[in-house]
Amino acid sequence: MPEQPTEWQRIIAHADMDAFYASVEQLDDPKLRGRPVLVGPRSGRGVVLTASYEARPFKVGSAMPMMKALRRCPMAVVVPPRFERYTELSERVMDVFRDFSPKVEPLSLDEAFLDMTGASHIFGPPIAMAKKLKQAVFEATGGLTVSVGVAQTKYVAKVASGYAKPSGLTIVHPSLAVAWLAPQSIARLWGAGPKTQDRMRAFGYTTIGAVANADPELLKEQLGSAGLHFYELANARDPRRVESSRRAHSMGSERTLETDVVEAEDIQRHLRRSADRIARRLRGKGILASGVCVRLKTADFKLLTRQCTLANPTDVADVLFDTGCRLLGRFQHKGPFRLVGLAAHALSRPSEPKQLDLLASDPAKRDLEVVMDQVAERFGHNGLRRARDVGHMLVSESTPNLDFVSE
Ligand SMILES: [Mg+2]
Repeated sequence: MPEQPTEWQRIIAHADMDAFYASVEQLDDPKLRGRPVLVGPRSGRGVVLTASYEARPFKVGSAMPMMKALRRCPMAVVVPPRFERYTELSERVMDVFRDFSPKVEPLSLDEAFLDMTGASHIFGPPIAMAKKLKQAVFEATGGLTVSVGVAQTKYVAKVASGYAKPSGLTIVHPSLAVAWLAPQSIARLWGAGPKTQDRMRAFGYTTIGAVANADPELLKEQLGSAGLHFYELANARDPRRVESSRRAHSMGSERTLETDVVEAEDIQRHLRRSADRIARRLRGKGILASGVCVRLKTADFKLLTRQCTLANPTDVADVLFDTGCRLLGRFQHKGPFRLVGLAAHALSRPSEPKQLDLLASDPAKRDLEVVMDQVAERFGHNGLRRARDVGHMLVSESTPNLDFVSE
């Protein structure tokens, strides 16, 4: 493709690590290299988190039940996930991205948008930027590959990074974006889930080009307001900016206790309440958290914190709580503690509401919590409680030493 940097109004790169979890396992264990690897639970129950590229010709992939994947690819090696290691490498990768641009918007542990507008004088034209980025990631991680797409808009950059995986490098010049998208499947339309795709096919749209050339009023009739959104995307129009401020904010809930706590069970009860409150606020604002932090203050006023990054952004209290409990295990101090706090950080607002369902971990639990939000709105927050919390509440609310002095 001809390269005319002066015609680029914005330069946006989307960088996406290739088969991230599986590639990390192959990086750390040379015996796994060149072999089909499935990262997921060994028990056979549960789903594949990532399949290595050697496994993909057998038609196995993420979110497939492990049993089914093993029937299709019986010679695959199943490796249980090691999220701490993925997080460690993710941080290294994100540091590389930040060396290239002050505006980096992580979407998950292994992918991010980078706003490279104005960086041509440092890194050269888009193709040179992408090559340098790939090389830098490879060196910083000791051998992991990343696929990079560069375009004038976020959406086209995202499609471009997936275009030639693994280790892809796809530059879509602004003047060619619409023509480049046209022959691709509607499955590549951002926000079009399987059900929407079925409806679109029923109306005769199979390619992005068909959507781009449709009458927008008709699309709106057929698909609702999402139809207009797809029309814009299909025509390579996407004004969304790369938002790098997402790591700056956090949302927390902590309590100074009237009496210090020592027992893990008591600390967990406070974490549970905090997790419920934070998740409700996140959902209320349509925000997802990619990080969780636990804060404990010792009896002699020392503040201790432990934090981690989540594999998937979330607004689900159960996920915040479980993560908080795991972090508890990482404190060496045995207490007693006079303050217990939980915070969600690395907050982001998905580009569109539909993405909440796609991005949020554990959709079933999320659905339940959304119903609880609605009940709480009508009847107040004491209207509905998790069954397993009721017994505890009876205890904790009848014993003053667990009531909160302040929030
Ligand atoms: Mg990836």
